[in-house]
Amino acid sequence: MSTINVALAYPNTFQVGMSNLGYQFVYGYLNSLSGFSAERVFYSQSVGRRGPTSEETGRPLRDFHVVAFSIPFENDYPSVPAMLEAAGIPPLREHRTDNDPLILAGGVSVSMNPEPLSSFLDLVFIGEMGETEASDRFCATLREVIGRPRTRSGSGDWALQAFSTVPGTYVPAAYSFSYDDEGLIREVRVQDGFPKRVKAVKRRSRGAPVPVSVLFTPEAEFADSLLVETNRGCGRGCRFCAGGWIHFPVRHAVFSGFRSSVEKALQEGRTVGLIGSDLAGHPQLEEILTFIVEQNGKFSLSSIRPEGLTPRIVALLARTGQKTATLAPEAASPRMKRVIGKEIPSERFLELVEQLVAAGIPNIRFYFMVGLPTETDEDAEEVARFVEQARKIFVEASRSRGAIGRIGVQVTPFVPKPWTPFQWAAMASQKTLQQRVRIIRERLKRMGNVVVRAESVRDATGQGLLSRGDRNVWHAIVEVARQQGRWAPVLRAHPRLLDRYVHRERDAGEIFPWEVTDHGLTRMVLERSYRRGMEASRDQE
Ligand code: SF4
Repeated sequence: MSTINVALAYPNTFQVGMSNLGYQFVYGYLNSLSGFSAERVFYSQSVGRRGPTSEETGRPLRDFHVVAFSIPFENDYPSVPAMLEAAGIPPLREHRTDNDPLILAGGVSVSMNPEPLSSFLDLVFIGEMGETEASDRFCATLREVIGRPRTRSGSGDWALQAFSTVPGTYVPAAYSFSYDDEGLIREVRVQDGFPKRVKAVKRRSRGAPVPVSVLFTPEAEFADSLLVETNRGCGRGCRFCAGGWIHFPVRHAVFSGFRSSVEKALQEGRTVGLIGSDLAGHPQLEEILTFIVEQNGKFSLSSIRPEGLTPRIVALLARTGQKTATLAPEAASPRMKRVIGKEIPSERFLELVEQLVAAGIPNIRFYFMVGLPTETDEDAEEVARFVEQARKIFVEASRSRGAIGRIGVQVTPFVPKPWTPFQWAAMASQKTLQQRVRIIRERLKRMGNVVVRAESVRDATGQGLLSRGDRNVWHAIVEVARQQGRWAPVLRAHPRLLDRYVHRERDAGEIFPWEVTDHGLTRMVLERSYRRGMEASRDQE
C-alpha cells in the first residue's frame, strides 16, 4: 500500500479543534511519517449527504483507511457516534465490516478511561502520541494491517491479531466484563496474548520535540498565538486534578528545544502562549519570558500557581500588555483547601490581586469549584466572602491607577476523575450543585465589577457519567448524540445510571473499568491520599 490515509477527527467544531495543541501536534506527527497522510475533519451539526468531510481534500470520512479521533474531553463523546453515523459508518464496532475504515481514538479523556467509548472503537491509543518508539510501532502496525487483505469477518478480529503486543494499544474487543446484580464489575477477562493493563505511553526523552502550534487560522481561539506546551504533569498532588496525576512525572521542556519556534513566531508578530500544568515550576520560566519581552514580543500564560508569580514575572506580564491574570484557588475555606490538597492560603491570593493590579494588569479571573467532597453551603458562602475581600483590594489598587477592570469568577461543578484520589468520591447531585452556584451568584450579584460565570450543571453531570462509566453507557452517548448534545432528557430518563456511576461513593475494593489502563499510579497511593483528604475534613481549623 502506498499511502495510509488518516482522517484525524476532532469531535467538536473547527474553531475548538484548531485551538487544541494536542490535536495539532498529532496532525504534525502523522504527516511527518513516511507513507502517512493525515487530513483534518471536524464535527458540524449541518453536514451534507456525504457526512463530515476533510478540510484538505473534501473527502468524506468513509473514504479514509483510518478514522482517528482525538478526544481531550468527555463532553465531546456523543459527537463520535454522531460523526460516524453521518458518514454512513456503523457507529457500533460489532456492526462494522472489513469494508469500513478502522476507527481509533486517543487523547486525555480516553486514555484515562477508554471504556465508555469502547463499543464504538477498534483501538485506543493510551497516553501521549508522537515521537516515541511506541507511537512509531503503533503506526507501523497500522500500515501493516491496512496493507494486508482483510480476510476475517469484522474489523475487530484482524486488529486483535496484530495489535496485541503493541505498547500503548488498548483493543476493546479483547476485554470482556462480567457484572454482579448491582451492575458492578465482578471480573475482567482478557484474551490470551493481551496485557491485563495497557501501560500509558509517555514522552520522556529530553530531546523529544516540544508540542507547538503547527497551523494558524483566524477562526481559532488563539488565532495569532504560537502555543507551546512547556511542561506536562505536576507533582503537587491536588486530589481532584487529573492532569497533575496522569501526566506524572513532571516533564519540563528545555527552552533550547523550542527557542527557534518562539523566535520565528515573534518575527511573524505572534503572541507566545505558554501552557502547562506546572508553569510555576518551570526552571527557565523567567528566562523564557525575559527573552520574549526583550524581542518586543508578547506572551500569555495559562493559569499559574502563586509561587510562579514572582515580582519579576508580574512585571513582565504587565510590560507585555497582559490584560487578565488567572488565579485558581479552587476553594476558599481552609477546611475545603485541606480536603482537596491545594492549601494555598487565601491571603496569598489577596496579596497577588494587589500586586497584579498595581503592576498594571486590569482584570483578574478566579477559578473555583463547587460540589467538592464534604463541601457544605458554608464553603460556598466562603467563596463569596473571599471574592468580596478580593474586590475591596482590587478596587483600592485600581483607584490608585485611575482605571478599574473586572473580576471574573468562574465556577465549575466538580467532576471526580479516574486515576485521581477522588476517583472513589461521589459526585454531588444536580440539586446540590445548583444550590451552591446560587449561593455564590446571589451574594455577588449586586457587586460592581464582578462577573460570575458557572458551567452547566447538567453538562457536568453528563461528564461525570462519561468519566467513570463503563462500556454499558454507550447507549446514553448515542441518545445524547440524537438529542444534539442535550443532556437534560437523557439524565432524566436514566436515574439508575446516575446512581450507579455518578452519585455513589465507590467501595474501597471495587474494580474500576479504567483499570484496564496503567498510568504508573498505584491504588494504594491514591487511596491513601483519598483517606487523608476525608480525614482532613474533620481536622480542627
Ligand atoms: S491543580 Fe495545579 S497545582 Fe494542583 S496538581 Fe493540578 S496542576 Fe498541580
